[in-house]
Amino acid sequence: MLELRPICECCGKALPPSAPDAMICSFECTFCRECVSERLGGRCPNCGGGLVARPIRPASKLAANPASNHGVYNPKGCGREGRPLGDTTQAIGIV
Ligand SMILES: [Zn+2]
Ligand SMILES: [Zn+2]
Repeated sequence: MLELRPICECCGKALPPSAPDAMICSFECTFCRECVSERLGGRCPNCGGGLVARPIRPASKLAANPASNHGVYNPKGCGREGRPLGDTTQAIGIV
């Protein structure tokens, strides 16, 4: 099952399960479409693989199969300076 990570790894943008602009690689590295097209050139900066649009899990399935609340936020991985995230985001960085 997909994790459905809650944020873009590059810019920290919120990507809820219903987000139409979430993109993932085969390892589920998760980015927003804007970062993929403007910064990443369509390639995952972590594994070099392609990124595709993340399927949207139907809301009726989310109760039993909830999205992950652990995001990965690694702005340096895509060449960005980090910015602080709000308290509502449960992001974890990878070192
Ligand atoms: Zn982004
Ligand atoms: Zn990847």
